[in-house]
Amino acid sequence: MAIPSDLDISRSAQLQPMTDVAAQLGIGEHLLEPYGRNVAKISLDAVEELADRPRARYVVVSAITPTPLGEGKTTTTVGLGQALNHIGKRSTVAVRQPSMGPTFGIKGGAAGGGYSQVVPMESLNLHLTGDMHAVTAAHNLLAAMVDNHLHKGNELGLDPHKITWRRVLDVNDRDLRNIISGLGGKQDGAPRQSGFDITAASEVMAVLALSTSLQDLRKRLGRIVVGYTTDGDPVTAEQLKAAGAMAVIMREALKPNLMQTTENTPVLVHAGPFGNIAHGNSSIVADLVASRCTDYLITEAGFGADMGAERFFNIKCRTSGLQPDAAVLVATVRALKAHSGRYKVVAGKPLPPELLAEGPEDVLAGADNLRKQIDNIRLHGVSPVVAINAFPTDHPSEHEAIRQVAEAEGARVAVSNHFTEGGPGGAELAEAVAEAAEEPSGFQVLYPDEADLRTKIETIATKVYGADGVSYAPAAARALDSYEANGYGELPVCIAKTHLSLSSDPGLLGAPTGWTLPVREVRASVGAGFVYPICGDMRTMPGLGSRPAAESIDLDDQGNITGLS
Ligand code: ADP
Ligand code: MG
Repeated sequence: MAIPSDLDISRSAQLQPMTDVAAQLGIGEHLLEPYGRNVAKISLDAVEELADRPRARYVVVSAITPTPLGEGKTTTTVGLGQALNHIGKRSTVAVRQPSMGPTFGIKGGAAGGGYSQVVPMESLNLHLTGDMHAVTAAHNLLAAMVDNHLHKGNELGLDPHKITWRRVLDVNDRDLRNIISGLGGKQDGAPRQSGFDITAASEVMAVLALSTSLQDLRKRLGRIVVGYTTDGDPVTAEQLKAAGAMAVIMREALKPNLMQTTENTPVLVHAGPFGNIAHGNSSIVADLVASRCTDYLITEAGFGADMGAERFFNIKCRTSGLQPDAAVLVATVRALKAHSGRYKVVAGKPLPPELLAEGPEDVLAGADNLRKQIDNIRLHGVSPVVAINAFPTDHPSEHEAIRQVAEAEGARVAVSNHFTEGGPGGAELAEAVAEAAEEPSGFQVLYPDEADLRTKIETIATKVYGADGVSYAPAAARALDSYEANGYGELPVCIAKTHLSLSSDPGLLGAPTGWTLPVREVRASVGAGFVYPICGDMRTMPGLGSRPAAESIDLDDQGNITGLS
């Protein structure tokens, strides 16, 4: 049965006025800052004003290791929020703001899909309230002040070869990955090699996501390290006197954005840090507000549970102090079949048609990945719920296969039809999540702050990824030693590896064993508050494909957007 396009469903949704959406949260008009008709920012005063209210059950939505197409975490997050409301439990959703790079590139928009979307999807997927642009502006102001500092005498003794602060733009543009800046005459600055990353990869974006207040944001911006002196001492945004102005640029951006779903469930959309070199979770501020405004707060963590959920627990919850009560693992028939290793699934290409034929034995052949990801949630003392995100091409025998595996592991499991049916289609999942969240939470972070960086990396690699151990390239070992010496050893780690495997090799499917995690390089986002070891090639500026989504997007005669998905 064909359902209308995401854009058509989004347009036909009956939107509530923002004051009504806010009223569902018990947020009065004095805390609401409207941005047009269908989006509002929430004043930061809400954090303190609502702090005495009871705390919501906190649920993170994660997934098995995905195929390159995504497994429907956003869709399930939105659908679960709607489904909880449908069964009479007040709920609110918190998600990341999509980046316009992927929107016009391969992935398309990220508003969810079908009858479980954040609306209006055009606002969500495009500029929203300009937070992305604020991140870009704050980031590039610091870059300009770095180059100006070099030009005006370099009082701090920055080594031009050790500058780590690049520039950012919210676009997929591979030609900007490596540039020479400062070309021209003497008055045009000093030529040096640099480059651009996409805005989502900016440390300022991670700072926005991890700050707990405006004062905390200001301090984190000050701690950003832009490079090192010839002696190897770090130089910060504070020393360059840039952090105050950056905080001013970010002042409005720190306020979470309120929207709604196709069924009027409130949604907070806020911050969109990358999922590999950053932690891939929406903002702490949004969760601090929403956790006092609802009975169930449902939030999405990027990529598989080994990546987004691990960082949700060990970076985001460690920083915010909020305790998760349950974790949803989105599983799909197509991804588990892909994990069987019997099909070739390529990014940017449609799934092979044979993969869609009935094959419960292929699902079972890929099920080790699901088992390991269930285990990864339990490692943190949180109850897992497996959500079978039903696709129109699935067969009941294949859902049954996933159900058997989950039940054998002792995990709750439910088939969810939120994509085609909206909230009512997710009722079974909502009941299972509500039950899991009622159990007392045994939440624990995986390692203490005091553990050294190598212990933190090895704990994640062996316990979460299933590696035998970790190897460090000489440059990585040197960086770790200098970070410990600089006092960054207390920070949590955010391991940048492929999201397409539990291992660091995207070609290894299922739950690989007998391998070693190779750490090639280590960098630090000191302002955001994590150290990130890099394993494999990490792209921080994507490129466009041979048929970018941008080619299909246009305006019709009435000025409406067409072709956005
Ligand atoms: P993720 O957040 O895991 O990356 P999304 O929720 O963005 O995944 O979904 C990825 C893509 O798959 C989107 O294009 C979405 O519309 C589609 N999709 C997700 N769930 C379903 C489903 N149950 N049926 C059909 N398409 C789906
Ligand atoms: Mg998503």
